[in-house]
Amino acid sequence: MPIHIAARLLGHASLSTTQAYLAVFQEDLIQSYRTFLDQRRAVRPSTEYREPTDQEWNEFQQHFELRKLELGTCGRPYGTPCKHEHACIRCPSLRVDPNARGRLLEIARNLGDRIGEAKANGWLGEVEGLQTSLEAAKRKLVSLDRMLARKPGGPVSLGLPTITTS
Ligand code: SF4
Repeated sequence: MPIHIAARLLGHASLSTTQAYLAVFQEDLIQSYRTFLDQRRAVRPSTEYREPTDQEWNEFQQHFELRKLELGTCGRPYGTPCKHEHACIRCPSLRVDPNARGRLLEIARNLGDRIGEAKANGWLGEVEGLQTSLEAAKRKLVSLDRMLARKPGGPVSLGLPTITTS
């Protein structure tokens, strides 16, 4: 991420504050990154590097706000609509937050109950859709548990950036 964007996200008034965080990286890595940015900027129109308008900045903040979901965050690209009518449990763009594991279990149990209820009442039109959602919930649970098992101490969820204005 370009450092001036990172500085805005972190609420730093000065780029030198943000640069202090880069001290954890090797010097040559930082240098390569800056060279890459300089080369990119040289071939892009200078208008792309202007300060964003208030409206653009608000839209950018909304981008993160609208990605907060019951089970985690939506990873669809910036500026794109939800193409799946918010059927998040089935969607590959859903990034499940490890803290939402309990909620995911609750949803899976509820789907199981609803399948039983639909079968008992002869609502067969519901059963297939609910079954698909239940299978998706189980797959998400398995992949979340696999991820949790891979890292000693479990993954650290960074969540979404907090926008500050100072
Ligand atoms: S259905 Fe997919 S694209 Fe739509 S909000 Fe949920 S995770 Fe995002």
